[in-house]
Amino acid sequence: MKIQHIFFDLDNTLWDHRRNAYLTLKEIFKKEDISEKYNLDFEDFHKEYFTINERLWEQIRDGEITKDYLREHRFYDAFAFFGIEDATLAQTFESNFLDEILNYNDLVEGAFQILEYLSEKDYVLHILSNGFQEVTYKKCELSGIKNYFQTITSADEINVRKPHPEVYEYALRKAGAQKENSMMIGDDWIADVEGGKSFGLQVVFFDVFNDNFEAENVTVIKKLIELKDIL
Ligand SMILES: [Mg+2]
Repeated sequence: MKIQHIFFDLDNTLWDHRRNAYLTLKEIFKKEDISEKYNLDFEDFHKEYFTINERLWEQIRDGEITKDYLREHRFYDAFAFFGIEDATLAQTFESNFLDEILNYNDLVEGAFQILEYLSEKDYVLHILSNGFQEVTYKKCELSGIKNYFQTITSADEINVRKPHPEVYEYALRKAGAQKENSMMIGDDWIADVEGGKSFGLQVVFFDVFNDNFEAENVTVIKKLIELKDIL
């Protein structure tokens, strides 16, 4: 059956979270004068933070922790790695981070072109994100891609995250879409690819970080523009 509805993951699939987060943290780090105060290099800090944050997001996806836990721990744990155990400092970073990241809205290479292309071909486009509800919509709006989407769904709305079938069910119902003619495109192997596939969608793995995973019935692309070959 022909694909009609396309569900995109947002972070690191369309919205360049990795880059935007990096630039945001660099700014806060400078403003708080961390290098001077603690003799800590930004790149060293960022590397540790990145690893910790990725791990915590995996734990959220797997239902092991809540988002409040993540928000309490990601900066605290990253600083603690360097011997700086300061809950107030961690809280300052956390609250500034979510506000200030919205000042950075770089998209993944080719995002605009592919959204334009797919819209012109009359596909109905949607967002299905595991991110925080309060920022998902704003990211779409501020980066200028909001109008390409008929629905924008954040897993927070029902507090169940990809890869769980409930959130796919919810997003498709909201979109008025059927499994048989829907596709999921994303960069997270478990949440987007395995989750979408076991729910019964066609799936595309956007291998933006060169994970080189593959599986039966999974299309892999390295650049968004490669979607033109299949859609
Ligand atoms: Mg993602």
